[in-house]
Amino acid sequence: MKIIDIINSGKPTISMEVFPPKTDDKFNSIMQATEEIAALRPDFMSVTYGAGGGTSKFTAEIAENIQNKYGVPTLAHLTCVSSDKDKIDSVMNDLQSRGIENVLALRGDIPQGFDRTKCEYHYASELIDDIRSHGDFCIGGACYPETHPESPTSMKDIENLKIKVDKGCCFLTTQMFFDNNILYNFIYRVREAGINVPIVAGIMPVTNAAQVKRIREISGSQLPSRFIRIVDRYGDNPLAMKQAGIAFAVSQIIDLYANGVNSVHVYTMNKPEVAKAIMDNISYIIK
Ligand code: FAD
Repeated sequence: MKIIDIINSGKPTISMEVFPPKTDDKFNSIMQATEEIAALRPDFMSVTYGAGGGTSKFTAEIAENIQNKYGVPTLAHLTCVSSDKDKIDSVMNDLQSRGIENVLALRGDIPQGFDRTKCEYHYASELIDDIRSHGDFCIGGACYPETHPESPTSMKDIENLKIKVDKGCCFLTTQMFFDNNILYNFIYRVREAGINVPIVAGIMPVTNAAQVKRIREISGSQLPSRFIRIVDRYGDNPLAMKQAGIAFAVSQIIDLYANGVNSVHVYTMNKPEVAKAIMDNISYIIK
């Protein structure tokens, strides 16, 4: 099933992101975690591709397993910057043979010391034609409510986003954010720029204090004071921090639905118990 049809169904949707193992020996435990998340029956699940040093070789396998075993439609991430056309071609053939219909077209982070002049791909938008040449895929893209870190201005970033959408992205998933007003403001500016595709809000439940430092490094997200107070108060108490982090994410999600943002994507960090707690807390809201 195509993600765009799920998003356009009119009902509030909840989807979950998982990532493949970094090493082969972790494959079984991560497959188990992804299955436990799939068993919660989110509207769809996405599987990352080589993100954060993870391997890309299991993305298609995990996505296929979730789809076949649990009937949950999947979105396979695909990055291009350190790839070439032959590699993209072979990944797309693999996805197609496994019945995956949805791809998140990404540039990927640029590895340190990488010579970009030798790349076949420079931006995610260049990947879109190559995905389309493989058939009728539903293609999504990433967007950044707080601006992509490499972009000189937020307006420039939105102009570049429009190129990606005009190329054929039919929905966008946001980078994580912790202040919903930032998203509402972003949506306003994106619509003003003539981008009309659905925007899926990416929510990261922060369940331990160490995550906060990493989030700042990778996303540059602003952390509202009410969130910082939670980390200050409960950061040294793992169980309390987990409970408070889940409650914070749930309150963000409910506020999003209440304000008309109908599609929410949870960065689960492969934690089934966190995904379950969120599903339990919104069960009547998404009915
Ligand atoms: P692009 O859309 O290409 O944009 C990158 C930068 O280039 C931006 O600053 C943009 O403004 C600029 N730009 C775009 N087009 C042009 C143009 N034509 N001319 C000039 N400038 C331009 N990484 C992974 O490795 N694996 C994953 O699975 C993964 N999943 C992700 C999922 C989501 C929802 C998000 C938000 C990010 C994900 N990432 C993943 C991280 C992502 O790869 C990085 O943020 C990366 O730095 C940018 O990727 P992009 O596809 O947004 O790039």
